[in-house]
Amino acid sequence: MPRILKIKCAKCGTHLYTYIKVGEGRLWHCWKKRIIQDNTTKKENEIKCPKCGNLIGIDKGPYINIKQKSITITK
Ligand SMILES: [Zn+2]
Repeated sequence: MPRILKIKCAKCGTHLYTYIKVGEGRLWHCWKKRIIQDNTTKKENEIKCPKCGNLIGIDKGPYINIKQKSITITK
């Protein structure tokens, strides 16, 4: 069953994404088509927290390669 996750910045707690997760396991990739809400800022291919500038992940086109240590996930 798909679940809705709130992805937050691990440093400052800013809400970055609301995301529909399908399947089990860790969140390695954020598929753009499953992002409901996007509060991040982008510089070239780097995705950053809009508040503290923490590097969240790298834009790979159809998905974002998430840095696990940069986020916290709440269900
Ligand atoms: Zn932050």
